[in-house]
Amino acid sequence: MIYEEFKTILNSSFLNIADGNGVVWASKQMKDPLEERVAGFDFIHRLFELGKDNDIKFYFLGAKPGIAEKAKENLENTHEYIKIVGAHDGYFSADDENQIIEEINSKNPDVLLVALGSPKQEKFIYKYKDKLNCKIAIGVGGCFDVISGTVKRAPKIFIKLKLEWLYRGLTDLKRIKRVVDFIIEQANEVQDPQFRKYKKFSINSKLFLFLTSLLHSLLHPVSCIIIATAT
Ligand code: UDP
Repeated sequence: MIYEEFKTILNSSFLNIADGNGVVWASKQMKDPLEERVAGFDFIHRLFELGKDNDIKFYFLGAKPGIAEKAKENLENTHEYIKIVGAHDGYFSADDENQIIEEINSKNPDVLLVALGSPKQEKFIYKYKDKLNCKIAIGVGGCFDVISGTVKRAPKIFIKLKLEWLYRGLTDLKRIKRVVDFIIEQANEVQDPQFRKYKKFSINSKLFLFLTSLLHSLLHPVSCIIIATAT
């Protein structure tokens, strides 16, 4: 079951960031409150800034051909100190993976940013964490699309109103399919006793599941996972 696998991956990481107001909300319901949402996009920009006073080498893996290179180029224009040692697109076959790992290792990056979408990027990092030489690997979703200028981030007002998910849903309709897939899977597979207590909120549990699934999927719970690969 995908959630068990994803749970194992999240639990094995050094740090998970809640890039979704849905997770922040859920953490409050579960009486283990997270302070706030931390957008992966903002997080990696803080990392880029850290490169100013520290010698940090980045490698970009993911997104459509040309996008990671364009993101690299844009960042090199805006952050003259940044060191991006390589970039590779995210459309490769399983047979190419070893060669890609070798290429990444040959460039000796400290930080590997992986933009393959979730949960593909987390699975990829988990699968290769012992083969990678980098110190940390981070799943960054659609960040290269935004940095390259291919996709616009939601206007600030949407972010402030916690409606970034709505903007993304409206501007990228294929996300609707993701919602539908998630709802179907959720309805079939959620048996976790932890969720049962939430039935009390619902008029009928199927409606509640539908709404929470919709919210969960759109808010995109954890888009940033950091796995420390260094021993
Ligand atoms: N992507 C990729 N390889 C794949 C599937 C997706 O490189 O096989 C890229 C896609 O081009 C996009 C990113 O992964 O740049 C996923 O973006 P999205 O906004 O969907 O990320 P998420 O919401 O899953 O974090």
